[in-house]
Amino acid sequence: MTGIDDLPVRDELRGKTPYGAPQLDVPVRLNTNENPYPLPEPLVERIAERVREAARGLNRYPDRDAVELRTELAAYLTKTGKHPVTAENVWAANGSNEVIQQLLQTFGGPGRAAIGFEPSYSMHALIARGTGTAWISGPRNEDFTIDLAAAERAIAENRPDVVFVTTPNNPTGNAVPPETVLALYEAAQAAKPSMVVIDEAYIEFSHGDSLLPLLEGRPNLVVSRTMSKAFGAAGLRLGYLAADPAVVDAVQLVRLPYHLSAVTQATALAALEHTDTLLGYVEQLKAERDRLVLELRAMGCEVTESDANFVQFGRFDDAHAAWRKILDQGVLVRDNGVPGWLRVSAGTPKENDAFLDAVRELLGSVGDTPTPPKEQNA
Ligand SMILES: *Cc1c(COP(=O)(O)O)cnc(C)c1O
Repeated sequence: MTGIDDLPVRDELRGKTPYGAPQLDVPVRLNTNENPYPLPEPLVERIAERVREAARGLNRYPDRDAVELRTELAAYLTKTGKHPVTAENVWAANGSNEVIQQLLQTFGGPGRAAIGFEPSYSMHALIARGTGTAWISGPRNEDFTIDLAAAERAIAENRPDVVFVTTPNNPTGNAVPPETVLALYEAAQAAKPSMVVIDEAYIEFSHGDSLLPLLEGRPNLVVSRTMSKAFGAAGLRLGYLAADPAVVDAVQLVRLPYHLSAVTQATALAALEHTDTLLGYVEQLKAERDRLVLELRAMGCEVTESDANFVQFGRFDDAHAAWRKILDQGVLVRDNGVPGWLRVSAGTPKENDAFLDAVRELLGSVGDTPTPPKEQNA
Protein backbone atom coordinates (compact mmCIF):
# COMPACT_ATOMS: atom_id res chain seq x y z
CA MET A 1 0.00 0.00 0.00
CA THR A 2 1.24 3.47 -0.84
CA GLY A 3 2.08 5.65 2.17
CA ILE A 4 2.50 9.41 2.42
CA ASP A 5 6.27 9.08 2.31
CA ASP A 6 6.06 7.19 -0.99
CA LEU A 7 4.58 10.34 -2.53
CA PRO A 8 6.73 13.29 -3.61
CA VAL A 9 5.59 15.38 -0.60
CA ARG A 10 7.62 18.38 0.58
CA ASP A 11 10.64 17.38 2.70
CA GLU A 12 9.39 19.22 5.79
CA LEU A 13 6.16 17.16 5.81
CA ARG A 14 7.91 13.76 5.69
CA GLY A 15 7.31 11.55 8.72
CA LYS A 16 4.86 14.04 10.29
CA THR A 17 1.41 13.28 11.73
CA PRO A 18 -1.64 15.53 11.35
CA TYR A 19 -2.91 17.66 14.27
CA GLY A 20 -5.77 16.15 16.19
CA ALA A 21 -6.95 15.39 19.69
CA PRO A 22 -8.20 11.82 20.05
CA GLN A 23 -12.00 11.91 19.64
CA LEU A 24 -13.07 8.97 21.78
CA ASP A 25 -16.67 8.01 22.41
CA VAL A 26 -16.83 8.45 26.20
CA PRO A 27 -19.59 9.92 28.39
CA VAL A 28 -17.67 13.05 29.47
CA ARG A 29 -15.44 14.76 26.90
CA LEU A 30 -13.41 17.60 28.38
CA ASN A 31 -10.44 17.52 26.02
CA THR A 32 -10.86 20.14 23.30
CA ASN A 33 -11.86 23.33 25.18
CA GLU A 34 -15.22 23.36 23.45
CA ASN A 35 -18.12 25.14 25.10
CA PRO A 36 -20.29 22.39 26.68
CA TYR A 37 -23.54 24.30 26.17
CA PRO A 38 -25.40 23.73 22.90
CA LEU A 39 -26.63 26.91 21.23
CA PRO A 40 -29.94 28.11 22.74
CA GLU A 41 -33.06 27.17 20.76
CA PRO A 42 -34.03 30.78 19.80
CA LEU A 43 -30.57 31.18 18.27
CA VAL A 44 -30.91 27.87 16.42
CA GLU A 45 -34.19 29.23 14.99
CA ARG A 46 -32.55 32.50 14.01
CA ILE A 47 -29.69 30.66 12.29
CA ALA A 48 -32.22 28.62 10.32
CA GLU A 49 -33.99 31.84 9.30
CA ARG A 50 -30.84 33.64 8.21
CA VAL A 51 -29.48 30.59 6.40
CA ARG A 52 -32.82 30.14 4.59
CA GLU A 53 -32.54 33.73 3.45
CA ALA A 54 -28.92 33.20 2.35
CA ALA A 55 -29.90 30.00 0.52
CA ARG A 56 -32.06 32.01 -1.87
CA GLY A 57 -28.89 33.72 -3.09
CA LEU A 58 -26.56 30.72 -3.21
CA ASN A 59 -26.45 30.86 -7.02
CA ARG A 60 -24.27 33.96 -6.48
CA TYR A 61 -20.87 34.16 -4.82
CA PRO A 62 -20.98 35.49 -1.26
CA ASP A 63 -19.91 39.00 -0.22
CA ARG A 64 -16.18 38.57 -0.80
CA ASP A 65 -15.29 41.17 1.81
CA ALA A 66 -17.90 40.04 4.37
CA VAL A 67 -18.63 43.68 5.16
CA GLU A 68 -21.81 43.17 7.22
CA LEU A 69 -20.14 40.48 9.32
CA ARG A 70 -16.97 42.54 9.85
CA THR A 71 -19.13 45.49 10.89
CA GLU A 72 -20.92 43.39 13.52
CA LEU A 73 -17.66 41.85 14.76
CA ALA A 74 -16.21 45.36 15.09
CA ALA A 75 -19.28 46.41 17.10
CA TYR A 76 -18.80 43.41 19.41
CA LEU A 77 -15.11 44.25 19.92
CA THR A 78 -15.89 47.91 20.55
CA LYS A 79 -18.54 46.97 23.11
CA THR A 80 -16.41 44.43 25.01
CA GLY A 81 -12.79 45.38 24.32
CA LYS A 82 -12.56 48.94 25.69
CA HIS A 83 -11.19 50.10 22.35
CA PRO A 84 -13.15 51.37 19.33
CA VAL A 85 -12.68 49.41 16.11
CA THR A 86 -14.45 49.59 12.76
CA ALA A 87 -14.97 47.12 9.90
CA GLU A 88 -11.73 48.41 8.34
CA ASN A 89 -9.84 47.09 11.38
CA VAL A 90 -11.43 43.64 11.24
CA TRP A 91 -10.87 40.62 9.03
CA ALA A 92 -12.65 37.24 9.27
CA ALA A 93 -11.92 33.72 8.04
CA ASN A 94 -12.85 30.07 8.58
CA GLY A 95 -11.65 29.76 12.17
CA SER A 96 -8.78 31.66 13.68
CA ASN A 97 -6.59 28.88 12.32
CA GLU A 98 -7.28 30.25 8.85
CA VAL A 99 -6.66 33.79 10.11
CA ILE A 100 -3.26 32.62 11.40
CA GLN A 101 -2.56 30.83 8.13
CA GLN A 102 -3.32 33.98 6.17
CA LEU A 103 -1.06 36.01 8.49
CA LEU A 104 1.81 33.54 8.00
CA GLN A 105 1.24 33.44 4.23
CA THR A 106 1.43 37.23 4.24
CA PHE A 107 4.21 37.91 6.76
CA GLY A 108 6.02 34.55 7.01
CA GLY A 109 6.87 32.02 4.30
CA PRO A 110 10.10 30.57 2.91
CA GLY A 111 13.21 32.32 4.20
CA ARG A 112 11.25 33.83 7.09
CA ALA A 113 10.73 32.75 10.70
CA ALA A 114 8.08 32.83 13.43
CA ILE A 115 8.54 32.42 17.17
CA GLY A 116 6.18 31.25 19.93
CA PHE A 117 6.76 30.63 23.64
CA GLU A 118 6.17 26.98 24.41
CA PRO A 119 4.30 25.09 25.65
CA SER A 120 1.64 26.98 23.72
CA TYR A 121 -0.93 26.40 21.00
CA SER A 122 0.72 23.80 18.78
CA MET A 123 -1.13 24.96 15.65
CA HIS A 124 1.08 28.06 15.47
CA ALA A 125 4.10 25.83 14.79
CA LEU A 126 2.12 23.53 12.49
CA ILE A 127 0.74 26.36 10.37
CA ALA A 128 4.25 27.83 10.23
CA ARG A 129 5.47 24.52 8.82
CA GLY A 130 2.57 24.35 6.36
CA THR A 131 3.42 27.81 5.05
CA GLY A 132 7.17 27.13 4.80
CA THR A 133 7.92 29.47 7.71
CA ALA A 134 10.82 28.43 9.98
CA TRP A 135 9.66 27.87 13.58
CA ILE A 136 11.55 29.01 16.66
CA SER A 137 10.51 27.59 20.02
CA GLY A 138 10.91 30.35 22.62
CA PRO A 139 11.30 29.64 26.34
CA ARG A 140 8.99 29.82 29.35
CA ASN A 141 9.72 29.74 33.07
CA GLU A 142 9.07 26.66 35.17
CA ASP A 143 5.73 28.21 36.24
CA PHE A 144 4.76 28.72 32.56
CA THR A 145 5.06 32.51 32.61
CA ILE A 146 7.07 33.95 29.73
CA ASP A 147 10.75 34.37 30.64
CA LEU A 148 10.99 37.93 29.32
CA ALA A 149 14.79 38.25 29.39
CA ALA A 150 15.21 34.93 27.57
CA ALA A 151 12.41 35.84 25.13
CA GLU A 152 14.05 39.18 24.33
CA ARG A 153 17.37 37.39 23.74
CA ALA A 154 15.68 34.82 21.45
CA ILE A 155 14.05 37.64 19.47
CA ALA A 156 17.31 39.62 19.19
CA GLU A 157 19.23 36.51 18.05
CA ASN A 158 16.69 35.07 15.63
CA ARG A 159 15.06 38.27 14.35
CA PRO A 160 11.71 36.54 13.63
CA ASP A 161 9.21 38.00 11.16
CA VAL A 162 6.21 36.94 13.24
CA VAL A 163 5.92 36.69 17.04
CA PHE A 164 3.02 34.75 18.59
CA VAL A 165 1.82 35.58 22.09
CA THR A 166 -1.12 33.46 23.26
CA THR A 167 -2.98 35.06 26.13
CA PRO A 168 -4.63 33.41 27.97
CA ASN A 169 -2.20 30.70 26.93
CA ASN A 170 -3.22 27.22 25.79
CA PRO A 171 -2.58 24.61 27.27
CA THR A 172 -1.34 26.26 30.46
CA GLY A 173 -4.26 28.68 31.01
CA ASN A 174 -2.31 31.66 32.34
CA ALA A 175 -2.63 35.16 30.88
CA VAL A 176 0.38 37.24 29.81
CA PRO A 177 0.65 40.65 31.54
CA PRO A 178 0.22 43.61 29.12
CA GLU A 179 3.70 44.92 30.11
CA THR A 180 5.24 41.66 28.90
CA VAL A 181 3.39 41.85 25.58
CA LEU A 182 4.53 45.45 25.15
CA ALA A 183 8.13 44.54 25.92
CA LEU A 184 7.96 41.69 23.37
CA TYR A 185 6.54 44.10 20.77
CA GLU A 186 9.38 46.55 21.41
CA ALA A 187 12.00 43.78 21.27
CA ALA A 188 10.54 42.46 18.01
CA GLN A 189 10.47 45.91 16.36
CA ALA A 190 14.03 46.61 17.56
CA ALA A 191 15.26 43.43 15.85
CA LYS A 192 13.50 44.12 12.52
CA PRO A 193 10.05 45.29 11.36
CA SER A 194 7.90 42.29 12.29
CA MET A 195 4.33 41.34 13.16
CA VAL A 196 3.26 40.49 16.71
CA VAL A 197 0.14 38.33 16.84
CA ILE A 198 -1.74 38.20 20.14
CA ASP A 199 -3.91 35.07 20.09
CA GLU A 200 -6.89 35.92 22.31
CA ALA A 201 -8.94 32.78 21.61
CA TYR A 202 -9.90 32.57 25.30
CA ILE A 203 -10.06 36.24 26.28
CA GLU A 204 -13.78 36.21 27.12
CA PHE A 205 -12.99 33.79 29.97
CA SER A 206 -10.23 35.94 31.45
CA HIS A 207 -10.32 37.72 34.80
CA GLY A 208 -8.59 40.60 33.00
CA ASP A 209 -9.20 42.74 29.94
CA SER A 210 -8.51 42.25 26.25
CA LEU A 211 -5.26 43.72 24.93
CA LEU A 212 -7.19 45.37 22.10
CA PRO A 213 -6.30 48.91 23.33
CA LEU A 214 -2.62 48.11 22.59
CA LEU A 215 -3.50 48.35 18.87
CA GLU A 216 -3.47 52.13 19.22
CA GLY A 217 -0.34 53.44 17.49
CA ARG A 218 1.07 49.93 16.84
CA PRO A 219 0.52 49.08 13.16
CA ASN A 220 2.48 45.80 13.45
CA LEU A 221 0.24 44.38 16.17
CA VAL A 222 -2.61 41.93 15.47
CA VAL A 223 -5.22 40.58 17.90
CA SER A 224 -6.71 37.26 16.79
CA ARG A 225 -10.09 36.00 18.06
CA THR A 226 -12.51 33.14 17.49
CA MET A 227 -16.18 32.22 17.86
CA SER A 228 -15.14 28.62 18.65
CA LYS A 229 -14.88 29.01 22.41
CA ALA A 230 -16.87 31.82 24.10
CA PHE A 231 -19.58 31.85 21.41
CA GLY A 232 -19.95 28.07 21.69
CA ALA A 233 -19.69 27.76 17.93
CA ALA A 234 -16.65 25.57 17.22
CA GLY A 235 -18.61 23.89 14.44
CA LEU A 236 -19.25 27.20 12.69
CA ARG A 237 -15.56 27.85 11.88
CA LEU A 238 -15.35 31.58 12.32
CA GLY A 239 -12.22 33.39 13.43
CA TYR A 240 -11.31 37.05 13.07
CA LEU A 241 -8.60 39.58 13.71
CA ALA A 242 -8.39 43.22 14.68
CA ALA A 243 -5.46 45.33 13.50
CA ASP A 244 -4.48 48.42 11.57
CA PRO A 245 -6.48 48.66 8.28
CA ALA A 246 -3.21 48.10 6.38
CA VAL A 247 -2.98 44.58 7.88
CA VAL A 248 -6.51 43.86 6.67
CA ASP A 249 -5.50 45.04 3.19
CA ALA A 250 -2.34 42.89 3.32
CA VAL A 251 -4.05 39.58 4.17
CA GLN A 252 -6.36 40.10 1.22
CA LEU A 253 -3.32 39.47 -0.98
CA VAL A 254 -3.37 35.79 0.06
CA ARG A 255 -6.99 35.01 0.96
CA LEU A 256 -8.85 32.81 -1.49
CA PRO A 257 -11.64 34.73 -3.19
CA TYR A 258 -15.01 34.09 -1.52
CA HIS A 259 -13.32 32.12 1.29
CA LEU A 260 -16.20 32.76 3.72
CA SER A 261 -19.35 31.07 2.43
CA ALA A 262 -22.69 32.89 2.50
CA VAL A 263 -23.92 30.19 4.92
CA THR A 264 -21.01 30.86 7.30
CA GLN A 265 -21.57 34.62 7.16
CA ALA A 266 -25.32 34.23 7.80
CA THR A 267 -24.74 31.86 10.73
CA ALA A 268 -22.11 34.06 12.35
CA LEU A 269 -24.37 37.11 12.02
CA ALA A 270 -27.21 35.23 13.72
CA ALA A 271 -24.88 34.20 16.58
CA LEU A 272 -23.73 37.80 17.04
CA GLU A 273 -27.38 38.85 17.49
CA HIS A 274 -27.40 36.59 20.58
CA THR A 275 -24.13 37.80 22.08
CA ASP A 276 -25.65 38.66 25.47
CA THR A 277 -27.12 35.18 26.00
CA LEU A 278 -23.89 33.51 24.88
CA LEU A 279 -21.78 35.68 27.18
CA GLY A 280 -24.12 34.60 30.00
CA TYR A 281 -22.91 31.01 29.47
CA VAL A 282 -19.36 32.34 29.61
CA GLU A 283 -20.03 33.65 33.13
CA GLN A 284 -21.24 30.20 34.22
CA LEU A 285 -18.15 28.60 32.70
CA LYS A 286 -15.85 31.06 34.44
CA ALA A 287 -17.42 30.15 37.79
CA GLU A 288 -17.02 26.44 37.00
CA ARG A 289 -13.40 27.03 35.93
CA ASP A 290 -12.68 28.75 39.27
CA ARG A 291 -14.37 25.86 41.10
CA LEU A 292 -12.17 23.32 39.26
CA VAL A 293 -9.06 25.25 40.33
CA LEU A 294 -10.16 25.34 43.99
CA GLU A 295 -11.27 21.72 44.20
CA LEU A 296 -8.19 20.35 42.42
CA ARG A 297 -5.95 22.31 44.78
CA ALA A 298 -7.94 21.07 47.77
CA MET A 299 -7.17 17.52 46.60
CA GLY A 300 -3.45 18.32 46.59
CA CYS A 301 -3.00 18.88 42.87
CA GLU A 302 -0.84 21.66 41.52
CA VAL A 303 -2.89 23.91 39.28
CA THR A 304 -1.68 26.63 36.94
CA GLU A 305 -3.56 29.93 37.37
CA SER A 306 -6.28 29.93 34.70
CA ASP A 307 -7.85 32.77 32.71
CA ALA A 308 -9.29 30.35 30.15
CA ASN A 309 -12.13 27.81 29.97
CA PHE A 310 -9.74 25.02 30.94
CA VAL A 311 -7.35 24.18 33.73
CA GLN A 312 -3.87 22.68 33.67
CA PHE A 313 -3.32 20.34 36.61
CA GLY A 314 -0.67 17.93 37.86
CA ARG A 315 1.93 17.10 38.62
CA PHE A 316 2.07 13.42 37.82
CA ASP A 317 5.13 11.20 37.61
CA ASP A 318 3.51 9.73 34.51
CA ALA A 319 0.91 12.12 33.08
CA HIS A 320 -0.09 9.71 30.34
CA ALA A 321 -0.81 6.93 32.82
CA ALA A 322 -2.93 9.39 34.83
CA TRP A 323 -4.73 10.43 31.62
CA ARG A 324 -5.51 6.77 30.93
CA LYS A 325 -6.86 6.17 34.45
CA ILE A 326 -9.15 9.19 34.22
CA LEU A 327 -10.31 7.91 30.83
CA ASP A 328 -11.01 4.48 32.34
CA GLN A 329 -13.59 6.28 34.48
CA GLY A 330 -15.33 7.68 31.43
CA VAL A 331 -13.77 11.15 31.43
CA LEU A 332 -11.61 12.30 28.54
CA VAL A 333 -9.10 15.05 29.34
CA ARG A 334 -6.11 16.18 27.29
CA ASP A 335 -2.52 15.08 27.50
CA ASN A 336 -0.76 17.89 25.64
CA GLY A 337 2.65 16.31 26.15
CA VAL A 338 3.66 18.79 28.86
CA PRO A 339 5.63 16.50 31.19
CA GLY A 340 3.75 15.99 34.47
CA TRP A 341 0.65 17.95 33.48
CA LEU A 342 -2.82 17.35 32.03
CA ARG A 343 -5.50 19.79 30.85
CA VAL A 344 -9.24 19.68 31.51
CA SER A 345 -11.83 21.87 29.79
CA ALA A 346 -14.56 23.34 32.00
CA GLY A 347 -17.78 21.47 31.24
CA THR A 348 -21.25 21.58 32.72
CA PRO A 349 -21.40 21.32 36.54
CA LYS A 350 -22.34 17.65 36.18
CA GLU A 351 -19.44 16.91 33.84
CA ASN A 352 -17.03 18.71 36.13
CA ASP A 353 -18.29 16.69 39.11
CA ALA A 354 -17.65 13.48 37.15
CA PHE A 355 -14.15 14.71 36.35
CA LEU A 356 -13.39 15.69 39.97
CA ASP A 357 -14.64 12.28 41.16
CA ALA A 358 -12.34 10.61 38.64
CA VAL A 359 -9.33 12.57 39.88
CA ARG A 360 -10.22 11.83 43.50
CA GLU A 361 -10.36 8.14 42.62
CA LEU A 362 -7.04 8.39 40.78
CA LEU A 363 -5.31 10.11 43.71
CA GLY A 364 -6.71 7.50 46.08
CA SER A 365 -5.04 4.68 44.17
CA VAL A 366 -1.51 3.77 45.24
CA GLY A 367 1.44 5.41 43.55
CA ASP A 368 -0.44 8.22 41.84
CA THR A 369 -0.18 11.00 44.37
CA PRO A 370 0.88 14.16 42.59
CA THR A 371 4.53 15.11 42.93
CA PRO A 372 4.71 17.61 45.83
CA PRO A 373 5.19 21.24 44.79
CA LYS A 374 8.81 22.20 44.08
CA GLU A 375 9.49 24.29 47.15
CA GLN A 376 8.58 21.29 49.35
CA ASN A 377 11.01 19.13 47.39
CA ALA A 378 13.92 21.47 47.87
C1 LIG B 1 -9.00 26.87 20.08
C2 LIG B 1 -7.95 27.85 19.75
C3 LIG B 1 -8.07 28.61 18.60
C4 LIG B 1 -9.32 28.48 17.78
O1 LIG B 1 -9.13 28.05 16.53
P1 LIG B 1 -10.38 28.09 15.55
O2 LIG B 1 -9.72 27.77 14.26
O3 LIG B 1 -10.95 29.47 15.60
O4 LIG B 1 -11.35 27.06 16.02
C5 LIG B 1 -7.11 29.57 18.32
N1 LIG B 1 -6.07 29.76 19.15
C6 LIG B 1 -5.93 29.05 20.27
C7 LIG B 1 -4.81 29.33 21.20
C8 LIG B 1 -6.85 28.05 20.59
O5 LIG B 1 -6.70 27.31 21.68
